[in-house]
Amino acid sequence: MKAFFKATLFVFLVGGLGLFLLMYRSAAPDKFILIGGTILTMDPDNPVASAVLVEDGRIRAVGTQRGIEARAGFVETVDLDGAIVLPGLIEPHTHPVASALLGTAVDISGFRYNSRAAIMEVLEDASSGFTLTPWIVAYGWDPLLVADLEPPTLAELDALSPKKPLVILTQMLHEAYVNSAALKAAGINVKSPGDIVEGFIRDDAGNLTGTVREVEAIDRLISRIPLAPDQATELLLRFQYIRYSKAGYTTIGVAGAVGRHKDPVELIRKVADDPESPLRTYLYLLPHQDKNLPLAGSADFRIKGIKFWMDGSPFTGGAALEGSYENSDVVIERLGLAHNHSGSLNYTRAEFERQILAYHNKGYQIAIHVQGERAIDAALDAIEMAQTAKPAPALRHRLEHNALITVSQMARAAKLGVTTGFFVDHLYYYGDVLPSLMGEKRMKRYMPLQSALEAGLEITVHGDHPATSIDPFRTLKTAIERTSFTGKTVSAPNEKISRQNALRAMTLNAAIQLGEGDELGSIEEGKRADFTVLSDNPLEVPVGSLQNIRILDVWKEGRRVDNRYFSGTHLSLAWDLIKAKLSGR
Ligand SMILES: [Zn+2]
Repeated sequence: MKAFFKATLFVFLVGGLGLFLLMYRSAAPDKFILIGGTILTMDPDNPVASAVLVEDGRIRAVGTQRGIEARAGFVETVDLDGAIVLPGLIEPHTHPVASALLGTAVDISGFRYNSRAAIMEVLEDASSGFTLTPWIVAYGWDPLLVADLEPPTLAELDALSPKKPLVILTQMLHEAYVNSAALKAAGINVKSPGDIVEGFIRDDAGNLTGTVREVEAIDRLISRIPLAPDQATELLLRFQYIRYSKAGYTTIGVAGAVGRHKDPVELIRKVADDPESPLRTYLYLLPHQDKNLPLAGSADFRIKGIKFWMDGSPFTGGAALEGSYENSDVVIERLGLAHNHSGSLNYTRAEFERQILAYHNKGYQIAIHVQGERAIDAALDAIEMAQTAKPAPALRHRLEHNALITVSQMARAAKLGVTTGFFVDHLYYYGDVLPSLMGEKRMKRYMPLQSALEAGLEITVHGDHPATSIDPFRTLKTAIERTSFTGKTVSAPNEKISRQNALRAMTLNAAIQLGEGDELGSIEEGKRADFTVLSDNPLEVPVGSLQNIRILDVWKEGRRVDNRYFSGTHLSLAWDLIKAKLSGR
């Protein structure tokens, strides 16, 4: 609760100043020419321009001020003061509700702590502190970054919190450790060894260990956490939208509306459809959220299709590899996996093909989480079957993450019109430790961005927040450099891509992946006037300075986005919460 109260207090403190600034902030005219900067259009036929004509939220001309004025006559100008303009950045794979809520969890991440003792101390302190709900949720357990981080035993978890349910989530969110109170709340019988529930791990004697593995089992657990007050979750989500906007994004793709709320789809719709929303939002439902909703929507919010997980995370043994994980100390000791372990598929082939065909026939775009080669094969087989049964070339199904996609799989994906998104932050956070999971040979082709381009695929890159923190320039730099955060490892250097291609992955290709390539993603006549304005040119600054580039402004639909934390809506949500608290509700 602490973080939340801090946020509420903050809203009030900046309130007075905000009101003043609201009055001060001037609106751009409906028709204007952006001048005085460098415009990187992402249009291959016209990559750099010095002026853009915007009218009623659309781009009407791209070129020079003189050229535009010769056509359009005198038009008001807005001076960029030497800044760099990109098409609005697009994050095609993120989870805003989960990010908003996990922002209030106890932070035990391996980026902050480097020993088990330090992390256990944080957890001990947290067990007596405030929480958003009656459960204690900690996030960021990371045995790959913290060398001595052995899994906690159930006895340790119970000692940390004897009564309150406790959930510790790993950084990539594919594993959790929970105490007996949480197991009980999830309806898992702690006493009876014969009661096997998929994903709730037991030791050789049949006793629960407190370890919970992969999405379905973790979902079962999370679904038992009491809901935070509606206004609190909405306010946190609105703050989350501001975080994306301040980072330079104008559009997000929600690859599964995960996050603890009674109806996360409606919550996202409400926040995204607000006329003041700083972001466009395109959403993929989880199968259980599909209530035969029409795929219609507005330019601000639209349901695009459905999201499936075909396998799990490479960092918990969940990637359905061809062959097995390395039998290294990291895999056996730290991750606690068996000899010659290989991840498994979440669906039988027949069941998956049945589901994919049904959604394909309904016109849903399908996004599938795949990491290992076997998962990618199964996904491509199902897509090929559906596209053969009912050809719909405009329906560009998506493969998400693609850690180990092979050259022949990429060729197949290109033929099927599939787009591929890469979770390159793996290389930044886990580049040093990945070889001991995957082996040197596999690492030569891990996250093969350049090969994907050569196969003719439209590649995108994503941050999959909350799995990583929002930082588009870290993601960009990683796609270009492939260097781990320690600087020690460059993974598969032959798979580095050019800056131009990396920027394209975060703009035009991302728009194409979301089915919005005609509307968004480049600065071209007829498209929506969404821009991200930068302090420096990402094509020119030294690679080491990419993360120092500042976001000066974001524009959506021809208007400067107001992405300050203070707003009337935030104030009234905070006030409702305080009233509810005071009246004891
Ligand atoms: Zn994801």
